Amino acid sequence: MNDMGYQELLAFALIFKAIADNSRAVIGVKDVDGRYIYVNKEYTRLFQHTYDYFIGRTDHEIFPRAIADSYRTTDLQAQKRPEGITVEEQAPVNGQLSDYLSIKFPIHDDAGHVYATGVIATDITELKRLQHELRGLAERDELTDCYNRRMLFEIGACEVRSAQRYDYPLSVMMFDLDLFKQINDTHGHAAGDQVLKGFAGLITSELRKHDTFGRIGGEEFALILPHTPAENALMLGNRIQQQLAHCRVLADNGAVVQVTTSIGISQLHPEQADFEDLLQSADGALYQAKVEGRNCIRMFRRP
Ligand code: GH3
Ligand code: MG
Ligand code: MG
Repeated sequence: MNDMGYQELLAFALIFKAIADNSRAVIGVKDVDGRYIYVNKEYTRLFQHTYDYFIGRTDHEIFPRAIADSYRTTDLQAQKRPEGITVEEQAPVNGQLSDYLSIKFPIHDDAGHVYATGVIATDITELKRLQHELRGLAERDELTDCYNRRMLFEIGACEVRSAQRYDYPLSVMMFDLDLFKQINDTHGHAAGDQVLKGFAGLITSELRKHDTFGRIGGEEFALILPHTPAENALMLGNRIQQQLAHCRVLADNGAVVQVTTSIGISQLHPEQADFEDLLQSADGALYQAKVEGRNCIRMFRRP
């Protein structure tokens, strides 16, 4: 900067201002005490304050305390990092919190001392919303809103590894709705869909925080129960069957539909290598429940 003449400096300032003001990013500079020394047009537009309002004020004089605290914390972090930092922050815009990706960096004087911190922030609210929506689509079963098969197996694999490592009981419960084809044939596919939704809703209301419920496919579901021996899973299974017995779904054709479920339970055994093994043993128990008359629960018994 020392080498620049006045004209050159002026041209430089004009160019910088034009670039900053034409940017859709929110750009600001604060001195080491956190007082604004520069904001671009987008900054003033976003927060509905004039340029002069910002200059000389700190974030604590402008924003709610919790937000100003977080800005100050990351500003101070940025001052210590010559390469700057990238953080996700929130900003109060039109009475709501918007998400921003902020690049914060120190600005040094000729002697190499930090005299200001700069921020260039981009609105990522829509991106985050889409991300959330996409994650939901990728993880959830569209009809029942429980986990889809892919997520069920992914979480199942993690749960099995964790139970093996920390040596706690883990049980899996497999459900297959009874004579479901008849429900479709008698009342129509839409009624069948309603029954599937109702069933998933019932199970979901029974879940503890760390339980995982997902749809394997069709009218087959699985429930992963960490820290649960098979006997406790059996109690839960009984409760689910009792509640299901009281459930009625009103089909579009006015018919009242009821469904029962067969259940197979298996507790993770040291010889089982992975989630697929565990699920297979629960499936064996489920098959037994079908063979022995449906609407009942069977536990996997090691031969
Ligand atoms: P079981 O007691 O032996 O399990 O008899 P079931 O009729 O339930 O067994 P089956 O496997 O023969 O039939 C399952 C039926 O589930 C057949 C299929 O059309 C139906 N189904 C699968 N997915 C859906 C769905 O998303 N919606 C509806 N409405 N029906 C479905
Ligand atoms: Mg089936
Ligand atoms: Mg079935």
